[in-house]
Amino acid sequence: MNHPPPIPLEEGVGPLLRWYDFCRRPFPWRETNDPYAVWISEVMLQQTQAARGVEYHRRWMRAFPTLRSLAGADEEDVLRAWEGLGYYSRARNLLRAARLLEARGLDTLPASYEELRALPGVGPYTAAAVASIAFGLHVPALDANGKRVFSRLLDLEEPVDRSSGERTVLSAFERMLPPDRPGDFNSAIMELGATLCAPASTLCGECPLGFLCLARLRGSALERPMISRRTKSESLEGILAVYLYNDMVFLRKRPPSGLWAGFEEFPWSAPPAEPESALTEKARRCAPDCGGEVRCSFTKWRLRLAVRIIRLHSPGDLADGGGRWALPSELAAAPLPAGSRKVRERLFDEGIIPRSRSS
Ligand code: SF4
Repeated sequence: MNHPPPIPLEEGVGPLLRWYDFCRRPFPWRETNDPYAVWISEVMLQQTQAARGVEYHRRWMRAFPTLRSLAGADEEDVLRAWEGLGYYSRARNLLRAARLLEARGLDTLPASYEELRALPGVGPYTAAAVASIAFGLHVPALDANGKRVFSRLLDLEEPVDRSSGERTVLSAFERMLPPDRPGDFNSAIMELGATLCAPASTLCGECPLGFLCLARLRGSALERPMISRRTKSESLEGILAVYLYNDMVFLRKRPPSGLWAGFEEFPWSAPPAEPESALTEKARRCAPDCGGEVRCSFTKWRLRLAVRIIRLHSPGDLADGGGRWALPSELAAAPLPAGSRKVRERLFDEGIIPRSRSS
């Protein structure tokens, strides 16, 4: 295992901040120091590219412009505002955190890394990003972008998903983090990693840190960062059941904890990701495979679900298993996980369920 040679990282601070001042992309959360708006953006951007997140952020800030407005919102409205971003536990945690803070009499976020870190759903990166960007606190916000940039600057052979590699990267980050503009520095590293120093391509000729980057010098940029564990995705085939009765459709309710907790959806199964249930078994037995298929993915699973459409002559006892018959307008308004959302669009587009005026 090599140890990176000392390089004058501090000399890169000025060029990096100048580059950030002139070249950064103009996102709405960069036009404000409102801790609430910064927090929302940091949580949204954990799994979403910044350019895609702009519209979601605007929509959210229109719906819930302040911490107090979020704390007073219905969970269903919060999930609807989050629809399309996935990982709905993040939206639920935003709501829980807002209510906790309101209960403590606060109308904004606390200006302390430790207090931010203690909020539901706030990990070390998010706490550091909000603390530095919104409050100017001197804490490094190290995310995947930062790990990649620093592992390239140092031409690090240690895997960054091991604690010793992460420590090396973090200590280089801390050496560089300037006391006067920590938020801008953290944002600049993220911006560099999202633009010039991307995972599969680099624009080293335009990079403000190119003059001190060892990976650039050695031509090894695309071999960094080293990763020790890679999670392989697994493909599964399964079934998704659309039960129709008159103009109504059956939505099952997921359990209050676990994957998509509390969400409604079309019943589906794809063991071992989701076990067979009476609802999917019945669909397998009763309906031919003529409803096409839907593809979606979550965590490590890549799913291909055969859609089976079953028309019932009476509502029967389906709702006993936890669910309800939804009118078209109720179906249109329900926040659904991605796979069910795609099927809903198809049902409306193909006229299988009539679009109500409000849908
Ligand atoms: S010089 Fe290239 S590899 Fe090094 S930090 Fe800049 S973009 Fe990344």
